[in-house]
Amino acid sequence: MKVIRSSREMYELSARWKKTAQVISLVPTMGCLHEGHLSLIRHAREVSDKIIVSLFVNPIQFGQNEDFDSYPDQFERDSGLIEAEGSDALFYPPPEEMYTENFQTSVKVKTLSQGMCGIDRPDHFGGVATVVTKLFNITSPDIAVFGKKDFQQLIIIKRLVKDLSYNIEIIGAPIVREKDGLAMSSRNVYLDSAGRKCALCLYQAIQASKKISHSRDELSAEQIIEETKKIVTQAGGQLEYAVVVNEFTLVPDNFVNNNSVLALAVKIGDSVRLIDNSKLRS
Ligand code: AMP
Repeated sequence: MKVIRSSREMYELSARWKKTAQVISLVPTMGCLHEGHLSLIRHAREVSDKIIVSLFVNPIQFGQNEDFDSYPDQFERDSGLIEAEGSDALFYPPPEEMYTENFQTSVKVKTLSQGMCGIDRPDHFGGVATVVTKLFNITSPDIAVFGKKDFQQLIIIKRLVKDLSYNIEIIGAPIVREKDGLAMSSRNVYLDSAGRKCALCLYQAIQASKKISHSRDELSAEQIIEETKKIVTQAGGQLEYAVVVNEFTLVPDNFVNNNSVLALAVKIGDSVRLIDNSKLRS
């Protein structure tokens, strides 16, 4: 596996692969890898000839009081895992390669970025959309694989691809969970044992909400949100938001239907913020 640090070298490798009509997949990550990330690489392997995994902790998607400075750096471990999954290239640019002096341009996906995680993280999705645009330009993939774990992000990237006319297929891969249901996340390493117990409330709220959704034909989103609040609060979590929205448009549903997704963000303790989501009827 080639480890590539410069955009120029990455363009050239991708262009060489394209000349021989090889299908290229990109899997963007910020490192600190777990099974969720590795599952994306496996998806990519099924649908492409060449895989590029990018590892870049993108400074512009973190807010001022967020964990950019402490984001776990495990490059040696991560690159070993990526290579073992059969990736052909690891794009690992230094920050100054992505954001040259006097960088001024940003990509904004307007309405979709405003609700849900966008409320408490107003600049987050602008940072994500900008870095993903740059990664698409540098790697020229045919396919890009993202996790459904970051549900709002996935919808935003799909919109971005349509709006900016990229000829890239976006694949959304299922959420990979721990045995007890907690969605895998790089931020789970911040949880102490009490926090780890409390963190289960996201999955418990999802399971309870799915159960009610299956047992009743007519069910208001409000009832699901109330149930979620109750479960999260009882567990000691702080609910940042819980919404029932359409799985394609993120528009809130008044009543649960076959396209409804419950998405939630919960603060565990003072600083660990976790997200999760699930279709309610599936
Ligand atoms: P991150 O490194 O957290 O930016 O995540 C990189 C990619 O991995 C994103 O597309 C995430 O949605 C995806 N991902 C993170 N956690 C999971 C998970 N538990 N299951 C599936 N995909 C995930």
